[in-house]
Amino acid sequence: MDNMGAHEHDDMWSPQTVAVKAGRPESQPDQPLNQPLVMASTYVAGGEMEYGRYGNSTWEAFESALGALEGGRALSFASGMAAVATVLDLVAPGETVVAARHCYQGTLVQLAVLEQRGLVKVVLVDIDNTEQVLAALNDDVALLWIESPTNPALEVADIAALSAGASAANVTVVVDNTFATPLVQRPLDLGASVVVHSATKYLAGHSDAVIGAVVTRNDQIWRAVDQKRRTLGAIPGTLEAWLALRGMRTLALRVERSRTNAEELVRRLTGHPDVERVRYPDLGGIIAIELADAEIADRVCRSTQLWVHATSLGGVESSLERRRRWTSEPTTIPEGLIRLSVGIEDVEDLWRDLEQALPGRD
Ligand code: PLP
Repeated sequence: MDNMGAHEHDDMWSPQTVAVKAGRPESQPDQPLNQPLVMASTYVAGGEMEYGRYGNSTWEAFESALGALEGGRALSFASGMAAVATVLDLVAPGETVVAARHCYQGTLVQLAVLEQRGLVKVVLVDIDNTEQVLAALNDDVALLWIESPTNPALEVADIAALSAGASAANVTVVVDNTFATPLVQRPLDLGASVVVHSATKYLAGHSDAVIGAVVTRNDQIWRAVDQKRRTLGAIPGTLEAWLALRGMRTLALRVERSRTNAEELVRRLTGHPDVERVRYPDLGGIIAIELADAEIADRVCRSTQLWVHATSLGGVESSLERRRRWTSEPTTIPEGLIRLSVGIEDVEDLWRDLEQALPGRD
């Protein structure tokens, strides 16, 4: 494996190039250009891999490309939630986790369950209020969980300022970088210790694989996470790792196109008589719009032909959903909020379909 995870090799290439070049077999006669699918539950003894739960060269190809993009070393997982659970499992009993109030509801559920079991204490904060977050970092805090932009409120954290404050307070900073992707923001460069991904979203990009990842440059954290993956066993499927790497080859094109489409849609949605508020931090292809109430928002979600009414995000196809249809969504998210995941279709088609679904002035 051409281990592009060793990031000193990647500094000479732009991220768009790294997404194409990293994680390939060594360039030698008759080697395939792409890492093949290696389906194996066990290996001949005497090497480093030994068993299918400990390692797989197809995972490693994906990990080395993602590690190169984020500027660290990656470990892949069965899902984003498996990655989140494994990182939260690093927190010692009795320690406190400070987390974004509006991070992904699955992460909030995991934190609530850990707290109910008496394993950790959880303090929720407004992640875009740097002063408030830093004030919460007392001596009991082990971990600061940032998501930026948050899902689906789209608040943006000042990762550099929070990481500097957390480092002074001896707090480990984790950033869920699912929405922005490493092409838009590299949290490890901004001082965070750990990045997590739902690679199910933009990284894989085609709504056909569930997979997660953890990235860090801290060798101690990397070893601890690797050990937990070996023992807890939340390993990715080989096919999923292969699909995610295949998807990442076009990450730059997809992110660029979704973003320019999103920017144009935001221009048209802003000031539209049915739309009470448009949230768009311009850090990718996710927009949130607020309509008058749940019923109107549900009707819009049922009235599109091109936009798919579906959960999840980050695929080539545009999708939308009213987030409060999930009972676990925080009640501070407005009932009429629709999250739009803007894909790579023609923006005029996207607008035509969305505009006809909006209820109209009367
Ligand atoms: N983090 C964020 C920001 C997400 O949006 C999601 C899923 O929607 C997850 C984590 C969980 O990832 P997965 O669905 O791959 O388990």
